[in-house]
Amino acid sequence: MPDAGGARLWIRGGRVVDPAQGLDMRADVLVEDGRIAAVGEGLAPQGDSGGAGEGGRVLDATGLVMAPGFVDPHAHLCEPGGEHRETIASGARAAAAGGYTALCAMPSADPVVDDPAAVGFAVAAGRRAGGARVFPAAALSVGCRGEQLTEFGEVVAAGAVALAEGKAVRSTLLMRRALDYAQSFGVPVLGHCEDPWLAEGGVMHEGVVSTRLGLRGKPAVAEETGVARDVALARATGGRLHVQRVSTAAACRLLRRAKNQGVRVTAEATPHHLLLNHEALEGYGTEHKVDPPLRPAADAKALRQALANGVIDCIATDHSPRHYDEKEQAFDDAPFGVVGLETAFAVLHTELVLGGVLGLPTLIERMSPGPAGALGLPGGSLEPGRPADVVLLDPAHRWTIDPSAFLSKSRNTPFAGFRAVGRAVRTLVAGETVWSLED
Ligand SMILES: [Zn+2]
Repeated sequence: MPDAGGARLWIRGGRVVDPAQGLDMRADVLVEDGRIAAVGEGLAPQGDSGGAGEGGRVLDATGLVMAPGFVDPHAHLCEPGGEHRETIASGARAAAAGGYTALCAMPSADPVVDDPAAVGFAVAAGRRAGGARVFPAAALSVGCRGEQLTEFGEVVAAGAVALAEGKAVRSTLLMRRALDYAQSFGVPVLGHCEDPWLAEGGVMHEGVVSTRLGLRGKPAVAEETGVARDVALARATGGRLHVQRVSTAAACRLLRRAKNQGVRVTAEATPHHLLLNHEALEGYGTEHKVDPPLRPAADAKALRQALANGVIDCIATDHSPRHYDEKEQAFDDAPFGVVGLETAFAVLHTELVLGGVLGLPTLIERMSPGPAGALGLPGGSLEPGRPADVVLLDPAHRWTIDPSAFLSKSRNTPFAGFRAVGRAVRTLVAGETVWSLED
């Protein structure tokens, strides 16, 4: 006879921060059969017995923050075709180590994820990984060639939660059709909103630094025109647009206006665009080569304001694993991208929460219910009945970011050596610990 009590877990004595329910209080969390059963004071058995006598376990969270697990709306896991950089399993474990309990995997594998079989492979590999939950996005066009839409109904039935191209959709007509058609299946279109002609060939932000370095720039107006086009298409079709990795003040202004007008648009920003600027490229370091490029400090400041006031709904890592040899090339030749799953919370907590830009509950909102809502993913709340996807955070933990300790297979980060305060110390998916700092 199964012991029903064996599936009980109390997480005791922490500060529960659950923005979706407006909770910020000292409380215990009771987990039963992988789901949140209750949140409240004095739920857990007292003493050190661990509740063993009552057929359950107790996790002591004194001094820690208990929050709904983070949700990353934008990560690249490179499988199939790039397993030396990342696999679905290594990415899901790296995510768990960063406090993530779910992520949306971009279709940018090789071959690209553009049919039901490829989506099904990603779903199955994600289930086996034993880390964060993996929700794949499918390609918007066949082969990401921008010519013909994929079979939205089939890829969504196979488990795709969104449609994404991983680059600008050059054809305005195709983007309009995608936003229109995706509505029938209840999924958003994830936009790399950029004018491909203005951006072509740029390796960094077009400005005084690119001129000084003699590098070809991508102008800010490439993003502004791209966002303007796609917001207009979302308005015209009524479709759901999620703008990926916003980097400019101009895009924030467009998004604020669109939201005020009731357009169904959400937006994300990355830690690197929020915290760094184009002056970081002075040394030609390829670990700062990202797409869209790091912008001037004024844009980063506008992004931080937009994150604080909710024009930017959520944090995305745009986790883009690259092999050491790839990033060792000359600046023009090196690929774009940084890894971010294991550093996002720590760098944002250090710079934005301790820096006084926003409170911890707001950061948690932008990393959990914010992205879950934007993409329509489960998670993002500790409400009873929900899956027990929980992160325990130690906001006082001091550590130095060391890429050699990453669970990700790749090390390309601009935050190596960053002295962080705050860290995810335990991550639970469906009530089971999938990562712990102690282990
Ligand atoms: Zn990306």
